[in-house]
Amino acid sequence: MRVSIPGQDRVIAHYGEEAQSMIHMEECGELIQAVSKMRRAKAAYIAGAQVDDNAAYYNLLEEMADVLICMEQMKEIYGISDFELQKIVDRKVKRQETRLDESERRLFEKQPVYRLWCGY
Ligand SMILES: [Mg+2]
Repeated sequence: MRVSIPGQDRVIAHYGEEAQSMIHMEECGELIQAVSKMRRAKAAYIAGAQVDDNAAYYNLLEEMADVLICMEQMKEIYGISDFELQKIVDRKVKRQETRLDESERRLFEKQPVYRLWCGY
């Protein structure tokens, strides 16, 4: 994580773990809604509508920041280290890369035109 999120132990001590856990759930819901609004704005733009997506974009940034703060608090509350988290992230990224490699290999085998473009 390259975003600095200091002082969350103080927030948790002040409001309590239970209250903050409710906030975490709410903020995740707000991020879902922000992603949905961005998708709608993009779909409208693609459909040819005059769309000002600045509000949706900045709302998405706000909600991403909120969820990053919440994730920092969850790490504090549950004693999750960056090292632990990074190990799981690395495993999942590697698994996704393997899936992509396999998918692209299958696509390559099934599309003779693609092979022609590549000179095979
Ligand atoms: Mg929020």
